[in-house]
Amino acid sequence: MAGIYIHIPFCRQACHYCNFHFSVSQKHRDGFLIALLKEIELQKNFFFAKPGEPSPFIDTLYLGGGTPSLLSRDELRAIMDTIRQYFLLKEGAEITLEGNPDDLTLDKLQVIKDIGVNRLSIGIQSFHEADLRYMNRSHTSQQAKNVLAIALKEGFQNITADLIYGTPGMSDSQWQENIMELANTGIPHISAYSLTVEKKTALDVFIRQGKAAPVEEEQSVRQFDILRDIASRYGYDHYEFSNFGKPGFYSKHNLSYWSGEPYLGLGPSAHSYIPGTRQWNVAHTQKYILSLKEDRIPSESEILSPDQQYNEYIMTSLRTMWGAEKDKVAAIFGGKYYENMMRQAKKHLQSGTIADSGTHLIITEKGKFLADGIAADLFI
Ligand code: SF4
Repeated sequence: MAGIYIHIPFCRQACHYCNFHFSVSQKHRDGFLIALLKEIELQKNFFFAKPGEPSPFIDTLYLGGGTPSLLSRDELRAIMDTIRQYFLLKEGAEITLEGNPDDLTLDKLQVIKDIGVNRLSIGIQSFHEADLRYMNRSHTSQQAKNVLAIALKEGFQNITADLIYGTPGMSDSQWQENIMELANTGIPHISAYSLTVEKKTALDVFIRQGKAAPVEEEQSVRQFDILRDIASRYGYDHYEFSNFGKPGFYSKHNLSYWSGEPYLGLGPSAHSYIPGTRQWNVAHTQKYILSLKEDRIPSESEILSPDQQYNEYIMTSLRTMWGAEKDKVAAIFGGKYYENMMRQAKKHLQSGTIADSGTHLIITEKGKFLADGIAADLFI
């Protein structure tokens, strides 16, 4: 498996909770596009194992951000044409585009379909206006409902939508309505995130100034349980901490991240990974543009130590329904890591937050919301 991620660093409006790299000013759009097309060309050999070897097929392509749905027909076409010029997209490759409800008009959806996107990721977050205002989202609840209806009518079968829970003021029954509104459309995938207050975001400042209500963990835990219960009743598998999919519709792109497959990240702030090495582009659009004007990719990289690789495997695998494979830990990392994992897992096996299936360590129902903390306990 090999995947490509493209970061589009522009948004219509700044959501108060967001700490991704983006700008609401569109003034560097043209420069960004030229730089991105240049970076695609310069990275054409990224996946080659040795010079002269054929490029592997790309299984997944993901346009994220920021807000890729802000791009025009010509901009989207230019990106896709350049990717196809320099990389071999596998027949039937999963091609995802993230979009917001206020951009995804019928025309835009047709363009997106025409350029080969076969998986739509819609940032809905909530169907309640008060939540959307709290988060400073740029769309209304009605726009979100309309987009879902139009996308389904246009024949998009592989649709995922994002929701956020734990938003202050959102009652448990409103949260249930949000999940059921999505589930009743029949879309095959939902990603749901607990609202987190990242440092230096507008939300962080507003809460500290008393201008926005604080986020309570108790509410998030309750709403996570409600989510799991309703998702299961509607036939979604809880296959990763934040991801719920019907069989056959799990995100292939994200699965390849979690299983340690190589991926190439393009655009400012995008990360790339080749087993053992991580690389990241500068999170600054003007610096990105200036550097690519000189045919230089503005990135840094680090060789991951065995400890870092083991910790990353534990963190990502324990968040999935498959868990951490015991033999894999022993074979790839060695006895020292295997013994550490089993020793540290003991207290969780006793308290019932981890189960040992014989081949895998898996987080139980009881431990689900605590997955990140449990994984950290198993770190070396
Ligand atoms: S649309 Fe997405 S990337 Fe843009 S500010 Fe909102 S959450 Fe962040």
